[in-house]
Amino acid sequence: MVQEAKAERPGDALLLNAALETIPFGFCVWSSDFTLVMWNRHYLDIYGFPARAIRQGMSLFEVVELSCRLGNHPDTDPKGFFEAYAAELTGNRSGLRVVNLEETAGGRTLETSHVYAPGLGWVVTHEDVTDEIARADMMAESKRELARQYGLLDAAINNISHGLSMFDKDFRLMASNAEFARMYALPPELTRPGTAFRDILEYRRKVGRHAPEDIDAYIAERRRVMRNGRFVNEIAKMADGTYISFRHQPLEGGGMVTTHEDITGQLATEAQMRHLATHDALTDLPNRALFREDVEQSCAGLGSGRSFSLLLVNLDNFKFVNDSEGHETGDKVLQAVASRLKETVGGEGLVARLGGDEFAVLAPGISDPAAVADLARTILTGLDAPFRFGRKPVRLRASVGMAVAPGDGQNADTLMSNADLALIKAKEEEPGTYRFFESGMDAKFRRRRLLETGLRDALSNKELALHFQPLISALTGAVVCAEALLRWDHPELGSIAPAEFIPVAEDTGLIVPLGAWVIETACHTAAGWAEDVKVAVNLSPLQFTRAGLLETVWGALMASGLSAGRLELEITESLLLKDSAANIEMLHALRGLGVGIALDDFGTGYSSLSYLRAFPFDKIKIDRSFMTDIAARPENRAILAAMIGLGKSLGMETVVEGIETAEQLSIVTREGCSQIQGFYYSPPVDAETFAGLIGADGLRLRSVRRSG
Ligand code: C2E
Ligand code: MG
Ligand code: MG
Repeated sequence: MVQEAKAERPGDALLLNAALETIPFGFCVWSSDFTLVMWNRHYLDIYGFPARAIRQGMSLFEVVELSCRLGNHPDTDPKGFFEAYAAELTGNRSGLRVVNLEETAGGRTLETSHVYAPGLGWVVTHEDVTDEIARADMMAESKRELARQYGLLDAAINNISHGLSMFDKDFRLMASNAEFARMYALPPELTRPGTAFRDILEYRRKVGRHAPEDIDAYIAERRRVMRNGRFVNEIAKMADGTYISFRHQPLEGGGMVTTHEDITGQLATEAQMRHLATHDALTDLPNRALFREDVEQSCAGLGSGRSFSLLLVNLDNFKFVNDSEGHETGDKVLQAVASRLKETVGGEGLVARLGGDEFAVLAPGISDPAAVADLARTILTGLDAPFRFGRKPVRLRASVGMAVAPGDGQNADTLMSNADLALIKAKEEEPGTYRFFESGMDAKFRRRRLLETGLRDALSNKELALHFQPLISALTGAVVCAEALLRWDHPELGSIAPAEFIPVAEDTGLIVPLGAWVIETACHTAAGWAEDVKVAVNLSPLQFTRAGLLETVWGALMASGLSAGRLELEITESLLLKDSAANIEMLHALRGLGVGIALDDFGTGYSSLSYLRAFPFDKIKIDRSFMTDIAARPENRAILAAMIGLGKSLGMETVVEGIETAEQLSIVTREGCSQIQGFYYSPPVDAETFAGLIGADGLRLRSVRRSG
């Protein structure tokens, strides 16, 4: 506000006044000794000075004091503020421009600029720079944020384990990371933005570092990816044999970001892992899973007329080797078997180990039975020579089961199970040989499966029963004993002979609970008979190897009240073949209970006579096979006579089984056997029928049976 301005012309003061009022900042003029000369309205507004409080000629100190009182220059005492102010503006004044920032009561920031004009004094402008400062602060902050983000991005890009490159649409490098340079061994000048893709490729070729085989084709391929504009994941094999995995992401408007990863090691590990998963660790042969895959693949080729054969090779006595020579030798033997098989089969087929002592051969193109049999023979002969690892040379025997495709099956499962059936047959009939699959085996196998599953529930379903067959005293003709014989009435298959299901029960271990049931039931039934009739129960070798036989027998006697002397246990020679010391000990223990022990099927084993020395049996039962043609074959009669004589001289009772005719009866009684069992008197009958036979003598028995 120009107060009493001494204008040259009256219009000049008005003009100057108007000009001062329109400028957008506070303005004032101080004399050189700091008294207020003039000011404008903005000056008053900006500091909040009431109009009347400001007068011309006021000292700077007065104005400062007023300003402080109004709340401007907070936290500053007026004296100090003034002194600092004055100090700054005194001294050499010419050309001086002093700029300060001040704060007002309203929290605004003012920039004051003092310029000394000689003759006039201090011209001071006061500008509100609050918004400007805020804007500048904001810009500085966003700049800092940008730098921070860039730093993060840079750190991220340089720390990812993959190489990263970004090329523009002309295949010039825009950006890349440290791993990219490291992977391709690029010098710094080739990682500069603007470097041509081709220069990088040529350098890679020069130094032999992951260079593509054909640079032109490589660039063309990437150009195609870029043009397509879609994400692509590709694996490329490089000239140095390495594999690089690329993930290309084309950019909008051209260019492409790519990550690069050397996966050579990873592929090698994967290949190794696949090898481990598909090969047997001990022999390094393909395992069952891989072999099955190979068979499946061969099956796929059957349509185009290709045939093949499948041979399953099983070592018959490996378990024995393992048990007697130790597992270490066992392992070595298996390894040697594997290499012998590979050697003998050679290029004719693929050898695999299916597990344990089971091996298999897939022979593509060999389907003529004579050729398949030849191969089987070669394999068996190859395994024939002894293996020398442990204390003594090991001789192995193997059996082979064979199935030929497509005749014996057209898929892996059928072929494998058919070859397996053939193998079972070979092992059953003549271990150490080979057998082809035959169609009937399948049905037999299915029936066996049915028996296996059915037997599990046979006891609880009450499908099992005991029948009893009388044994007649040769001396008195009276019934003196009954052999308990198991019967099974299968709900679907009807009545099944023990000769068929007992081996199944033995294989599955079910013979143990079944056998216990037989002992208990036989004792219980016999307890109801006359005192002079004994009961005989057949025992399987497996029942001996399981704990609890003694307890079962003792328990059955106790529960039924049958005196031990009325129970006979029949065992076969096979029991004495294996682990005989323990078994003989058990026989003694059983006999310690007071029960009788009979040797069943005598004469059918290899060394029957030696068994008679091993244990003092109470009774020997001469196998019924000696009865066939006894009248016509004098040698059978001679053997029979010798056996009966032997039994007698050892103080054992002798029973002849399978007497069907009067002629057979008269022969055996003349030879002096003590008891007779056979259809001539009676077949096995149910418990009720048998109870009715007790008390009858042999002659009456025959008439009872005939009329019954
Ligand atoms: P095994 O102990 O030698 O029993 C005698 C077998 O000869 C019985 O056959 C019987 O029916 C038959 N047999 C008796 N007299 C004659 C005859 O005059 N002519 C002919 N041809 N056969 C006669 P089964 O009942 O079929 O039993 C067969 C085998 O099954 C038995 O032979 C025995 O080894 C086994 N077995 C039966 N029951 C059991 C059992 O409860 N436990 C065990 N472990 N085995 C049993
Ligand atoms: Mg018997
Ligand atoms: Mg017998």
